[in-house]
Amino acid sequence: MTKITIAKGDGIGPEIMDATLKIILSAGAKIDIEEIKVGETVYLAGNTAGIAPESWDTIRRNKIFLKAPITTPQGGGYKSLNVTTRKFLGLYANVRPCMSLHPFVNTKHPDMDIVIIRENEEDLYAGIEHRQTDEVVQCLKLISRPGCEKIVRYAFEYAKQQGRKKVTCFTKDNIMKQTDGLFHSVFDEISKQYPDIENEHWIIDIGAAKLADTPELFDVLVMPNLYGDVLSDVAAQIAGSVGLAGSANIGEECAMFEAIHGSAPRRAGQNLANPSGLLQGAVMMLNHIGQTKVAERVHNAWLKTIEDGTHTYDIFRDQTSRLKVGTKEFALAVIENLGKKPRALKEVSFSGNSALVLPKYQRQARAVKELVGVDLFVDWVGKDPDELAITMKRIEVDGIELAMITNRGIKVWPNGFEETFLTDHWRCRFKAKYGKLTDKEVIARLLTRSISENVDTIKTENLYMFDGKDGFSMGQGQ
Ligand code: NAD
Repeated sequence: MTKITIAKGDGIGPEIMDATLKIILSAGAKIDIEEIKVGETVYLAGNTAGIAPESWDTIRRNKIFLKAPITTPQGGGYKSLNVTTRKFLGLYANVRPCMSLHPFVNTKHPDMDIVIIRENEEDLYAGIEHRQTDEVVQCLKLISRPGCEKIVRYAFEYAKQQGRKKVTCFTKDNIMKQTDGLFHSVFDEISKQYPDIENEHWIIDIGAAKLADTPELFDVLVMPNLYGDVLSDVAAQIAGSVGLAGSANIGEECAMFEAIHGSAPRRAGQNLANPSGLLQGAVMMLNHIGQTKVAERVHNAWLKTIEDGTHTYDIFRDQTSRLKVGTKEFALAVIENLGKKPRALKEVSFSGNSALVLPKYQRQARAVKELVGVDLFVDWVGKDPDELAITMKRIEVDGIELAMITNRGIKVWPNGFEETFLTDHWRCRFKAKYGKLTDKEVIARLLTRSISENVDTIKTENLYMFDGKDGFSMGQGQ
């Protein structure tokens, strides 16, 4: 018996949760259920996190969490409970299988069978945003070596366990050489440890285009958070429907399972919703807790039900469906099919499936880090970069000199183009005159000078070399 936490959520949540639990319990799941309340009612009661502190205790104690979708009220500073849960509990791997069920569910991609493994904790989802000037706001993109290593290793271990042949990585490292560059280079490092699994990397734009056009070319895909968020919805939709896909959020200690879709408030309370997405989440949960035989029974019965043409409204098509059913009737049909196998669709066997146990992250020897300059970001409403350069040269102090000015990343001094559009947000790069700065005080003196010269510095960013390699990007056009 495994104790699990469940939350019925909002909108269609309670209906699809009831259907899901009924199916898995009928299939013999040995689970002891503890229910908590999360979502709209908790938000609207004044808790901006959408969850009460004692509910965290329950989730942390039970470690396994099956969650129906919730509604995040618009405006009012409410935080997304999903993002908070993933980060609080260290659920670094988001696993989303997307498989077409042709010819029973309409799709342009009959042979699609992919799994997207999305990094779940970092990237732009750190939510660190600032308005810096009148015209410019910023969101910080954080990518860490442990984050990359954990997710990439998870992807390869997953592929190995599932007998999958290839892992594809998507990044945009032609532009983001430091952040996406790290993700890509960790992918290259770790892929070498799995010689039996094919690996490839695509720049995200052409990769995404290929995924939408010919998803059957892919197998397991691994990518940073934002790309994975977008593409896993695209993949689920082109496989048939977002209403069919489940998602697992896996951490070293805890795991959360859910449907990928939202709470569909307009469909709530009408016995219309398709419970398949949450059911797929529950199947992944059963595998994770080692109840693989039950997971297999549920999945095969579900495939059989889809194959029988017993469909909820979202996937019902006159040509392929036979019986239009509501949420409850769909659940009953799956229960009736328990023990049966699909005939046309491929039956599943989950015998080798259970939670992956990965080695703990090992911190590497620290690199030699040398300070070689500083970027001063300034708010300035002038239009002539030469004029700004004169001011910035006035604040130069011993050991450091102005090397470049950029505006939104593009070099505008020295030798900028008149055509370049300019905002009020400037980066003034100061480099050490003699290779490196031995004294950080230089930066403090530079800032003091900028105050006395009425330069509005909004932020500084130190420039470091790590083991002799630049730890910062060049200016565009530099
Ligand atoms: P949604 O996924 O709830 O609905 C999008 C469309 O898909 C709707 O037209 C709906 O009819 C259909 N749909 C979704 N799931 C279905 C199902 N199981 N059966 C049949 N049809 C289904 O997206 P939305 O409308 O953008 O968001 C509604 C709310 O859900 C928002 O408050 C949003 O913040 C929240 N949301 C929650 C989660 C989560 O808790 N994991 C995820 C996404 C969105």
